[in-house]
Amino acid sequence: MLYLDNSATTAILPQVKDKMVTYLSEEFGNPSGKYYELAENAKIAVKEARTHVANLIQSKEHEVIFTSGATESNNIVIKGVADYYSDKGKHIITTKTEHNAVLDVCEFLKTKGFEVTYLDVDHYGRINPSDLKDSIRQDTILVSIMWGNNEIGSLNDIKRISEICLERDVFFHTDATQVLGKLNIDLQFLDGVTFLSCSAHKMHGPKGVGALFIRSDEYGKLTPLTPLFHGGGQEEGIRSGTYSVHNIAGFGEAARIAKENFERNIYALEQLEAKLLQLLNEKFGNRIAYNSDSENKIPGIVNVRFKGLNNEILLKKLSPIIAASSGSACSSTKPSHVLQEIGLNIDEVRESVRFSFSPYTSVEDVDIFKEL
Ligand code: PLP
Repeated sequence: MLYLDNSATTAILPQVKDKMVTYLSEEFGNPSGKYYELAENAKIAVKEARTHVANLIQSKEHEVIFTSGATESNNIVIKGVADYYSDKGKHIITTKTEHNAVLDVCEFLKTKGFEVTYLDVDHYGRINPSDLKDSIRQDTILVSIMWGNNEIGSLNDIKRISEICLERDVFFHTDATQVLGKLNIDLQFLDGVTFLSCSAHKMHGPKGVGALFIRSDEYGKLTPLTPLFHGGGQEEGIRSGTYSVHNIAGFGEAARIAKENFERNIYALEQLEAKLLQLLNEKFGNRIAYNSDSENKIPGIVNVRFKGLNNEILLKKLSPIIAASSGSACSSTKPSHVLQEIGLNIDEVRESVRFSFSPYTSVEDVDIFKEL
């Protein structure tokens, strides 16, 4: 079976698994412990993982806060900023095509008296930076705009958006879950990005662990916000709770491998995507249409509309040989809001399928499309 749902989740790499098993078995210590070796070893594992994640996004190490995943990271930022800065203002700006881990948090905040502006997107799911400029107000406390879309792979102009937010002195959060390891993220050159969310399981790390980047000032102090969890004060007080050492160590290993193989992985994803497009075009010609742009997108995500075919029926039929999806794994029972926002009608949404590759997918395996 050819697994082409890597935007939903990925398989753990063997090195990641080995690393995790170590911290699930003999090295079971609590990093917050003192004086004895088991605790020290666990502390070293967390420190090493932090170094690898920081290297992948080019941040300072103490700016990386480990969380349970991107959903939690998004919640910490949006609720945490809303609470901490509500005296300054109650206006938040986001986009109509965010993941539900942003949209639903914003909807929740609306019930608490916050006002949310949802920016429109173009035909490929990108916001227009000048719309953002026009939407920022005196009382805007946060802009939250995803880097790459999980359903169609489109990329927002994060450099331009971060410049606007810096000029207007407003915090900028980006959900980078789908671009981690697939795009060169260099936070040293993106001063306007205050917060960034990411997750391990989209890049061959374990589920249930992610990170939140929080920019620090010249004295090393993290941008303040109200924590979601209160307790032991771990992770600079932003994320209390005993460290999930095996998950964090696995995330670190996945980040190290992603960084080391970055060029090779991008090349592999581009080759895989090119082959899929070639086979689909040969096989289906004008009976298909692409919902993804051909450029300026995350490599390895292709969203295709099979005209006249119902995606659920198609995916079920394909399932013994190809695993793909009709969109986001988190809201697969509802017709995709992303596809509707880029202009598809409900019938067209129901004809659309997302294929998403891993850099470890074998090019030969893609030949299975010849047999459809
Ligand atoms: N944000 C985006 C863009 C995603 O694609 C996902 C996962 O599908 C999430 C957030 C949620 O990530 P996690 O599963 O780590 O909570």
